Amino acid sequence: MPSAQPTTRSDELMRTARTVIPGGVNSPVRAFRSVGGTPRFMASGTGPWLTDVDGNRYVDLICSWGPMILGHAHPDVEQAVREAAAKGFSFGTPSENEVLLAAEIVDRVAPLEQVRLVSSGTEATMSALRLARGATGRSKVVKFAGCYHGHVDALLAAAGSGLATFALPDSAGVPVSSAHETIVLPYNDVSAVEAAFAEHGDEIACVITEAAAGNMGVVPPEPGFTAALRRITREHGALLISDEVMTGFRCSAAGWYGLEGEPEGGAPDLFTFGKVMGGGFPAAAFGGSAELMSRLAPDGPVYQAGTLSGNPVATAAGLATLRGCTAAVYDRLTQVSDALIAGATEALNVAGVPHVIGRAGSMFNVFFREERVRDYDDARDQDTAAFGRFFHSMLQQGVHLPPSAFESWFVSASHDDEAVDAVLAALPTAAAAAAA
Ligand code: PLP
Repeated sequence: MPSAQPTTRSDELMRTARTVIPGGVNSPVRAFRSVGGTPRFMASGTGPWLTDVDGNRYVDLICSWGPMILGHAHPDVEQAVREAAAKGFSFGTPSENEVLLAAEIVDRVAPLEQVRLVSSGTEATMSALRLARGATGRSKVVKFAGCYHGHVDALLAAAGSGLATFALPDSAGVPVSSAHETIVLPYNDVSAVEAAFAEHGDEIACVITEAAAGNMGVVPPEPGFTAALRRITREHGALLISDEVMTGFRCSAAGWYGLEGEPEGGAPDLFTFGKVMGGGFPAAAFGGSAELMSRLAPDGPVYQAGTLSGNPVATAAGLATLRGCTAAVYDRLTQVSDALIAGATEALNVAGVPHVIGRAGSMFNVFFREERVRDYDDARDQDTAAFGRFFHSMLQQGVHLPPSAFESWFVSASHDDEAVDAVLAALPTAAAAAAA
């Protein structure tokens, strides 16, 4: 797609990238395949702003897909990182920051007694799955279509995110034996869960669910859905894993759990976290009761490890970010989300573009369809071409949305009135482009 903005340097870098990196990118959604055009190579970020290598400036509504809740290069986080880095980058021994970060997480999310730190959300869900299988002695896993839990073999069935963008039902390279252990059900469909447990109840180790789905666009659980998962898993001796990699510490100080409250019947057995808790660095975690976590090595038989787990620089960034997430931060996230949702709704209404907003706390997106979205089939039934036109119009006007119709838009507490006004000013033209 032709661009009015200069993109010479991004084009050059992409050409070189394609020769040395598959598809030119290190994570598929960055390639712009579903919207077309040239991905912009970023040179720097400050607060809510990104500047690319050609000097174009954007309001950032990706926020690194969630982590940058305080904005780019937040001074307190930058200082914590500098101080930690000055003392060494990685020791491969225990260090103080990892204890502080684990304690900070345990303090925030009431059902947690212990967490194990890892380096990515994928590692967190993979390890939680292994722990659930180890603890129950069972192998089957229930997941929901459109929920993405990282690129774990067993969980790459009907995943959302980049896979939704590429409309791949699955990934090559995932053994049939692994996919066979995974039961994929429609999100928000309690009767489907009951039916699966009626048939396979004594083989199912766990149900894993996005606490509020954010990888098929934003689709919160319907009232009672999480409680039903809790009840059904309990009845059948299976564990419930709440994946809060995206929602954790973003939807509230205690993530989606903090916003929705404890489901009737009790909290999930395991939680997974990532993104915000690393403050933009590779740090993630999974956790639960001390009894369950004691099944992990070195105390128990479930093996799990990592050379860089609990890295001192990453944990310093995560700690500074979590400590920076004050009540005022969450208030600002809500204000910014409210303002952008109101602006998008108004602009799309004026342009006559069918749309509906998906929202979970400060995570939200526009679905280009009229009816409410409650599962992956609904999410896929939208006008993705309209999203592409909307996306490119916003980009041309200096607003960088996630380059896919199946992703949450992310805001930060650093999105000040100038940044919000810049987005609001761009919306009417983008809505008109979507209508064209
Ligand atoms: N779980 C959820 C809910 C996610 O949104 C993601 C990533 O987007 C992951 C797990 C995987 O995290 P990572 O990309 O850090 O491996």
